[in-house]
Amino acid sequence: MGARRASKDTDRRIGRRALIVGGVAAAAGSAVLARDELGRLWWRVPGVEKPRKDGEVDYTGARWVAASDANWRRADRPDDYGIEMVVVHVTQGSFDSAVKAFQDPSHGAASHYIVRKDGHISQMIRELDVAYHAGNRDYNERSVGIEHAGFVDRPQDFTDEMYEASARLTARICARYDIPVDREHIIGHVEVPGTDHTDPGPHWDWDRYMRLVRQARTAKA
Ligand SMILES: [Zn+2]
Repeated sequence: MGARRASKDTDRRIGRRALIVGGVAAAAGSAVLARDELGRLWWRVPGVEKPRKDGEVDYTGARWVAASDANWRRADRPDDYGIEMVVVHVTQGSFDSAVKAFQDPSHGAASHYIVRKDGHISQMIRELDVAYHAGNRDYNERSVGIEHAGFVDRPQDFTDEMYEASARLTARICARYDIPVDREHIIGHVEVPGTDHTDPGPHWDWDRYMRLVRQARTAKA
């Protein structure tokens, strides 16, 4: 039995060495790895606190603008809550008014990302954290929220640039957390149980959006 215990210990040492080797590989590849991919490697090492830096984004295509911390809750996803869904929203207002609302501590809600008509993306809450965007605690804990600047009854607000930028973002989120690219995992706010919100509304072109997400997902694979 002694021998067996020894071999177990050996296995454990090998396990730890593999982690160290993985860390070295991550460091060596840092020049070519996107920041969000580096983040992903860190998250895979158990027991290592995920590093946070001011202004850091989870998606390289996004610019950081901090939301008020009254509109989200600090967490350690995907370790404490798995990230299983993307929730698509429409702001019912301009991009700037959405940014202001999410910075306002009395607003009580905010999403991780906002996509503008020209395809610009702001990240306002880390994916590590729980954003109050879906109006449903369980869904908030297990999803990433993406707002799109515009109005549900103005289909012209949903531009080509917006669809494409948002689809690339969603594709990266799905890749990072192994979320299936389908309508059970990429949903509208309207589909969240208990919500009285109707966004993204009847003019949001789901077929087009899902096609773009699938294309972006395959291109990156
Ligand atoms: Zn919404």
